[in-house]
Amino acid sequence: MYDYDLFVIGGGSGGVRAGRVTAQLGKKVALAEEYRYGGTCVIRGCVPKKLMVYASAFAQQFTDAKGFGWTVGNTSFDWPTLRGNIDAELNRLEGLYEKGLTSNGADTFNQRATITGPHEVQLADGTTKSAETILIATGGRPFIPDVPGAEHVITSNEIFLLDELPKRILVVGGGYIACEFACILNGMGVEVHQYYRGAQILRGFDGEVRGHVSDEMIAKGINLHLGTDVTRIEKQDDGLHVHCTNGSICVVDQVLYATGRVANTENLGLDEVGVETGRKGEVKVDTYGQTSVPSIYAVGDVTDRVQLTPVAIREGVAFVETVFKNNPTSPDHELIPTAVFTQPEIGTVGMTEEEARDKYDVDVYRAAFRPMQVVLAGREERMLMKLIVDKATRKVLGCHIVGPAAGEMIQLAGVAVKMGATKEDFDRTVAVHPTAAEELVTMKEPV
Ligand code: FAD
Ligand code: NDP
Repeated sequence: MYDYDLFVIGGGSGGVRAGRVTAQLGKKVALAEEYRYGGTCVIRGCVPKKLMVYASAFAQQFTDAKGFGWTVGNTSFDWPTLRGNIDAELNRLEGLYEKGLTSNGADTFNQRATITGPHEVQLADGTTKSAETILIATGGRPFIPDVPGAEHVITSNEIFLLDELPKRILVVGGGYIACEFACILNGMGVEVHQYYRGAQILRGFDGEVRGHVSDEMIAKGINLHLGTDVTRIEKQDDGLHVHCTNGSICVVDQVLYATGRVANTENLGLDEVGVETGRKGEVKVDTYGQTSVPSIYAVGDVTDRVQLTPVAIREGVAFVETVFKNNPTSPDHELIPTAVFTQPEIGTVGMTEEEARDKYDVDVYRAAFRPMQVVLAGREERMLMKLIVDKATRKVLGCHIVGPAAGEMIQLAGVAVKMGATKEDFDRTVAVHPTAAEELVTMKEPV
C-alpha cells in the first residue's frame, strides 16, 4: 500500500490540473510546490505579463484619443501602483490554485520534493512519501548564456519584481519573451534596445509576419539591432556597459536576458532512479507522458515539447485519462494556435508560408491594410493577414494575423483550421462588418 495514488511534483499549470482532476476522481493525491502555486504562468509568466501588456498599451491609446476628439490631460505612469495591483491579483489566483487542490481532498506540501525511488519522493524537511504514480511537472527556468558579466543581468523572473522601472534597458533575444517585453517596456516609456543574434526576430514564425512585426516595433521606438550579440557586460557608475559583437557599447540601467528556458530537472533524483533525460535536461516521455520508469510520468515545460500553458494543461488531463481513467490518451500537439503579445500582436496557427511551400503547392492570400481604429488617430500602422492554402485540397494550412486583437481572432480561426476548413469555407462565411477580422473571409485573389 502506498501513501498516495498520485504524487505531483510542481504546482504550475500542468501539475495543478492533473492533481485536481485526479483528486476529483476520489483518488489520494499529494502535490509539492517549492515556490508559489500557479507556477510560471500565474506567478511570473502569462498572467502578470498580460496585465503589463494592458498597462503599456495606454500610452498609445492616450495619443490616439486626440484624433477622436478627446483632450487628454497630463498623463504619467507609476510602476509601484501597477506592481502592487498585479501582486494583489496574483495572490488571489495563487490562493485559488491551492484551494482547487485542497478543497478536492488533495494534500499540499509547500516545499521542494525530489525523487528517491520509482514510488518514493522525499520532501525538503526529510520526510518521505510513497505513491503508486509520480508526476513530474516541475516546469522550466530562464537560461542565461555564459557571457562575462552575466551576474549583472536579470531575466523574466526578476522583471516582475523590480522596485523601480529602469530608464534604459537592453533586451537580449528575439523570441516570445524578448519581443513581448521590448514592447511592454517601450510602452511604459523605457528607452529600449534589443539585440538579436540572427537576421530577423521570431525565428519559426512566418517570414512576412516577422518582418512586419519588427518594422512596427522599430516604428514604435524600439532600437532593434539584428545580427548583434553581447560579448561582455561591465558595471560602472553610470550604468551597465554592454559590449557587443559589432564593437559598440550600449549603456543601460538593466539588461534583460530572454534567451530561452531550460527544464527544472537538476538534482531531482532522475539519474539515480533511471528517468532518462535529453540533451537539454528535459524529461523524455512517450506519447502518453510516461518516462523510462513506468511509474513516473511527466507533463508540461519539463518535457520541452511545446512550452505553452494550455498545452501543459492538456498534457495533465491526458495523463489523468491514461493513468486513472483507463483511457490511454496522447495529447494532441497538432495545429496549436498561439499568440505573441507584442505591439502589434501576433496570432498564428498552422504552417508558415515557408514550411508549406516546402511540402505543398500553395496559394497564398494576403491582406495588408490600415485598420479603421488607427486612421483617425493619424497613425500609419498596418495590419497583416495571411491564409496559406493547399492548391490541391484547398485546405487552409496556416493562418497568420498581425494587429489589434490578433490573439483573440486566432483562437476562433484556429477552430476552423483544426476542423480542416477550406478556403471556400472561409469565403462562404459572411463577413462581420465593420471589423478587421472580416478580411479573413474576403480575400479574393492569391498573391
Ligand atoms: P510551471 O508553470 O513552470 O510550474 C512548475 C512548478 O514546479 C513551479 O511552480 C516550480 O516552483 C515548481 N517546482 C519546480 N521544481 C520543484 C521541486 N523539485 N519541488 C517542488 N516544486 C517544484 N504560455 C502561454 O500559453 N501564453 C503566454 O502568454 C505565456 N507567457 C509567458 C510569459 C513568460 C514571461 C514566461 C516565462 C512563460 C510564458 N508562457 C506562456 C509559458 C507558460 O508559462 C508555461 O508553458 C507553463 O507555465 C508551463 O506549465 P508547467 O506546469 O509545465 O510548469
Ligand atoms: P524562445 O525560444 O522563444 O526564444 C529564445 C531566443 O533567445 C531566441 O531568439 C534565440 O535565438 C535566443 N537565444 C537562445 N540562445 C541564445 C544565446 N546563447 N545567445 C543569444 N541568443 C540566444 O524562448 P523565450 O525565452 O522567449 O520563451 C520561452 C518559451 O516560453 C517560448 O518558446 C514560448 O513557448 C513560451 N512563451 C509563450 C508566450 C506566449 O504564448 N505569448 C510568451 C512567452 C513565453 P535563435 O532564434 O537564434 O535560436
